[in-house]
Amino acid sequence: MAKIIDGKQISMQVKMQVKEEVQQLTEQQISVCLAVVIVGNDPASRVYVNNKKKACDLVGIQSMEYALPEETTQQELLTLIEKLNQDKQINGILVQLPLPKGIDEKKVIETISPQKDVDAFHAVNVGKIMIGNYDFLPCTPAGCMDLIRSTGVEIQGKHCVVIGRSNIVGKPMSMLMLHENATVTICHSKTVNLKEVCQTADILIAAVGKANLVTADMVKQGAVVIDVGMNRLPNGKLCGDVDFQTVQEVAGYITPVPGGVGPMTIATLMKNTVTAAKVQNQ
Ligand code: NAD
Repeated sequence: MAKIIDGKQISMQVKMQVKEEVQQLTEQQISVCLAVVIVGNDPASRVYVNNKKKACDLVGIQSMEYALPEETTQQELLTLIEKLNQDKQINGILVQLPLPKGIDEKKVIETISPQKDVDAFHAVNVGKIMIGNYDFLPCTPAGCMDLIRSTGVEIQGKHCVVIGRSNIVGKPMSMLMLHENATVTICHSKTVNLKEVCQTADILIAAVGKANLVTADMVKQGAVVIDVGMNRLPNGKLCGDVDFQTVQEVAGYITPVPGGVGPMTIATLMKNTVTAAKVQNQ
């Protein structure tokens, strides 16, 4: 039976470390402030933004919310971002995705100053991560790394399979595992032998968005299974990409959904915001 990796508890440890760092910065007269921009009325985005604000309150980071109406134009959003880029009080800028139709996410991301890009989505930060010389790591993959490290399982030399190749999760996740000397395979929607590849994974990371995609017969005995997926079932319950009930019988370690990767994403955002404040005050 797998050991459950408790993302809630580990994320709380990270947030308490961040809180201490914020206190130390306050003693040096440095305040830490995150601007959170939300456009439109997506209920899931509202929940995420509220959770990020709560985490800011907990660790002592000031949060400034900019809630824009659904009909906001791209130019209006870009103008706000440019204003926040110039504002010395603001250390980090987070634009909650997805954005309403008609707004080009790529253009928005590339307008955020790389020094304030606490999501690490800007091409400059993506490039820095690629060469292993970075200030910020993208929140979800970095959170997954902390969860994997918490198991004590050595990463070096292990076969890591990442399912999903998105710019925000799958691709950076693979890169971080590569930096830790894992042998990495990336699977995606066109992979033909997903089951066979997954069966060889010592560390399996699912970041797809399909409930129960990963079943027990795809998992190697004792593997570390990290479930990034967040899917809403017809009954309203939240679940991941992994069939938790059966996979926990085979895996060595497994993250639950909720209570696994999700809280780590927010904790890493707090970490990145403090890093931004430190870098900007060097
Ligand atoms: P995405 O839609 O951008 O990418 C999904 C990836 O899955 C694609 O690369 C695609 O090729 C791959 N894929 C699709 N069907 C597949 C299949 N049948 N077999 C193998 N691969 C397949 O999604 P994303 O933004 O990377 O997010 C993935 C999941 O992670 C979603 O459920 C999302 O809600 C969740 N997520 C969670 C957090 C968190 O903090 N917990 C953060 C970000 C994303």
